[in-house]
Amino acid sequence: MQPINEMKLEFSAKSTNESFARVVAAAFISQIDPTIEEMADVKTAVSEAVTNAIIHGYENSNGLVKMNCRLFNDSVEITIVDEGAGIGDVVLARQPMYTSKPEMERSGMGFTVMESFMDKIEVVSEIGKGTSVVMFKTFNSVNEK
Ligand code: ATP
Ligand code: MG
Repeated sequence: MQPINEMKLEFSAKSTNESFARVVAAAFISQIDPTIEEMADVKTAVSEAVTNAIIHGYENSNGLVKMNCRLFNDSVEITIVDEGAGIGDVVLARQPMYTSKPEMERSGMGFTVMESFMDKIEVVSEIGKGTSVVMFKTFNSVNEK
């Protein structure tokens, strides 16, 4: 499947960039005219993945987060990449309510939120190398128009 449009963004691992990344993703997908609700779903999923890259990947130290977006006629694929700590056990990390930072009052629901707001997510990670989260969503509303 060939994308109709693509973009790549790279930004510092700073919490101020969580909202920046979600706004950029929303602006990019708006060209295929999804509903407000579908846009909100994507924004929420992007926020969770970017927050994880900053907090867990880089543990709030310096680093770069990458966001790659590929847009199709009625769907989008968004990849969030960090070159940080990596995840030892991805299956465990994806369990609802699993968090490695309970002392920070994290609820361990980030991956669960991404899974429920997007159609599919794939997590590839290696300790010491980093993490890549690929999220895919089809906008049913686009076909109904
Ligand atoms: P919440 O998202 O609810 O605030 P959380 O971030 O701990 O809590 P998830 O987003 O579901 O929960 O992530 C689960 C766990 O996976 C994290 O606690 C962390 O150990 C690990 N993890 C997630 N993303 C990354 C990442 N980019 N790099 C390293 N570890 C990660
Ligand atoms: Mg999280």
